[in-house]
Amino acid sequence: MKISVILGHPNKGSLNHAIADITVQTLQNNGYSVSFHDLYEEGFDPVLPCEKVMSGLIDLHVHTTASDGTMTPEQVVFHAAQCGLQAIAVTDHDTIDGVEEALAAGVKAGVEVVPGVEISVDYMGEMHILGYFIEPQNPELQGGLAKLRHYRNERNPQIIKKLRDLRFDISIDEVSKAANGNVIGRPHFAAVLKQKGYVRDFNQAFDWYLGEGRPAYVKKERLTPRQGIEMIAAAGGIPVLAHPKYLKVNDSTGLEELIRELKGYGLKGIEALYTTHSSGETGKFCDLALKCELLITGGSDFHGSNKPEIEIGRGEGGLTVQYELLERLKVKR
Ligand code: AMP
Ligand code: ZN
Ligand code: FE
Ligand code: FE
Repeated sequence: MKISVILGHPNKGSLNHAIADITVQTLQNNGYSVSFHDLYEEGFDPVLPCEKVMSGLIDLHVHTTASDGTMTPEQVVFHAAQCGLQAIAVTDHDTIDGVEEALAAGVKAGVEVVPGVEISVDYMGEMHILGYFIEPQNPELQGGLAKLRHYRNERNPQIIKKLRDLRFDISIDEVSKAANGNVIGRPHFAAVLKQKGYVRDFNQAFDWYLGEGRPAYVKKERLTPRQGIEMIAAAGGIPVLAHPKYLKVNDSTGLEELIRELKGYGLKGIEALYTTHSSGETGKFCDLALKCELLITGGSDFHGSNKPEIEIGRGEGGLTVQYELLERLKVKR
């Protein structure tokens, strides 16, 4: 049965995500084979036109200068307010240094700020685990983050060495300066390479030198997925699998198995709504979340002008994440 017959014209915005969720579940319970995938393939828009004006929109994946974004936590929060967002989660790579400033700015700007983090763990390359509502002072979290800083500090001079062997004039001081005293990531190396005219842009820096398998790539020691998830959970946080599109797994059965394994460690959700997910992928990941009884979250991965094509809350233009998803997250706290 075609989903458009049952639900009207989804591409006219006649449903919101919550209603769609309930509808899909009800239909499935009654033996119909419908899925989010069908909905999104039909051009389903999860936000009503009137809701777009009234907001209720959020972004649960945002970077600041505490990692490799270009806006300070305060600037990000005010930018979110300007863009009409009701809530954002600050999710810097392997650090919570931006959280306190963002929380304070949230009060001033009238934007709800969720304290968060994005931890890189080891899985066929890299897997990213988002953590929401973490307690910043938690000793296990602090200990884990210190370990991650240590791994980075071991790796970064090795990248410099490789770049210098490639005859680039680059020093760790220049990269530290680009990071402005914050956690140094590969994007800061990219920034220096760009600034010195060695590459045209960030993508070229990664494609030619810094990306996995490229001549200046150095593998960083990482936590296991289990350690990453447990560290977030220990700090009272909700662990969520970030951008599943970028996970390297063989096929969709492989992905489901992996997600069930992660759930065994304490995973609570999947970032099914993400800037570069196609409508088909969004539907597929929503279905997977539903099937595995996990929450759905969504975010843009905003990095300011380091990723100029991504706008907060809107991604490359097609992303909408509703406040409803944050409410469901809060229930799991
Ligand atoms: P690091 O944690 O220091 O290894 O840096 C990882 C970050 O570099 C990622 O979170 C992305 O923001 C960025 N990055 C990784 N690969 C690429 C790529 N191919 N193109 C652009 N940015 C990338
Ligand atoms: Zn980043
Ligand atoms: Fe990520
Ligand atoms: Fe990110």
